[in-house]
Amino acid sequence: MAKKHILIVPGDGIGQEVTLVGKKVLDKIAAKFNHEFTYDEALIGHVAIVATGNPLPDESLEKMRNSDAVLFGAVGHPKYDNDPSAKVRPEQGLLKMRKELGLYANLRPIKLFDELLGASSIKPEILKGADILFFRELTGDIYFGEKGRKNNGDTAYDVAEYSRYEVERIGRKAFEAARTRRKKLCSVDKANVLETSRLWREVIQKLALEFPDVEVEYQFVDSTAMMLIKDPRRFDVVVTANLFGDILTDEASQIAGSMGMLASASIGDGTGVYEPIHGSAHDITGKGIANPLASILSAALLLDISFGMKEESELVISAVDKVLKAGYRTIDIADATTPKENILGTEAMGEQVLKFL
Ligand code: NAD
Repeated sequence: MAKKHILIVPGDGIGQEVTLVGKKVLDKIAAKFNHEFTYDEALIGHVAIVATGNPLPDESLEKMRNSDAVLFGAVGHPKYDNDPSAKVRPEQGLLKMRKELGLYANLRPIKLFDELLGASSIKPEILKGADILFFRELTGDIYFGEKGRKNNGDTAYDVAEYSRYEVERIGRKAFEAARTRRKKLCSVDKANVLETSRLWREVIQKLALEFPDVEVEYQFVDSTAMMLIKDPRRFDVVVTANLFGDILTDEASQIAGSMGMLASASIGDGTGVYEPIHGSAHDITGKGIANPLASILSAALLLDISFGMKEESELVISAVDKVLKAGYRTIDIADATTPKENILGTEAMGEQVLKFL
């Protein structure tokens, strides 16, 4: 029995709908395994701007720091998407949360449930069995270096920068994860051209000496982009810098078929944040049709990574698997063969997962 305090941060749009379902799954696990989970809620994004004028109020940040883990939804509102000049924006809350909590590693497991093989745009025989864990560095690189304009605004620049310790801390997490999986690590860079990548490779090579049981390969980002589609099964753990990771993880999300299925974890040295990879999806907000499985799988990641509850986490994943095997789908993962009565809304899909738990 463990006592844990979890902060629920639904955010905007369908974040409000799916995160509630994720929480119900955590509740069920607590009851089943005799754990004591306590909860609080906090505001972020557009809802926080409306309530306080601030996309991440200090009160929310304080609550995050004081919790054992955060289950997060999404931020975003069409109002800002169509107004690039808006000074206060929901995504500022997200970036501030990552920075203030020191969340330097974004983990994205990419695994296709067998029942959804047909939902991907990649051929089933290439996909079957693919199981990749991405580690994307989150706080450095070209996003955070000096940027500006010169020559009367006709020339623009963004500086990419990495320090040894930044590469080492995420590299270590990736090696440790590889150890618990198939013991293969692929470090992705562009060391033939970029100095930051040469430092990246140097640090990973040195770390590799500490993990002789892990087989390491080094790949350039361009060939990785190609191999992900050609032969995704060759990858186990992949570690890469912020910009390369941003692009490769979106590409890899297609291996799993739908945005509504993918969870992610952002971790550092303090509280971890767990969230679906999708956004606030205003096109379907309020319709009760959003797929809650990404939030449920985020809850599974939270149990595993922040609480070390492997058995509980695996039970959640297997409940999702059983629901899919039983033929239930939300509209985003349904196809022409899905009987109408098997197409469920957000809440009903959540109820099915609870039933199998
Ligand atoms: P999105 O992920 O919200 O939606 C993309 C498409 O996928 C939409 O058609 C949507 O209906 C569908 N979709 C997404 N999640 C789904 C789910 N759970 N079930 C069923 N269908 C689902 O991306 P977008 O439309 O580019 O952005 C919408 C807003 O979200 C924007 O304001 C954007 O800034 C924000 N956003 C936030 C995050 C985040 O909070 N981490 C990430 C991406 C986008």
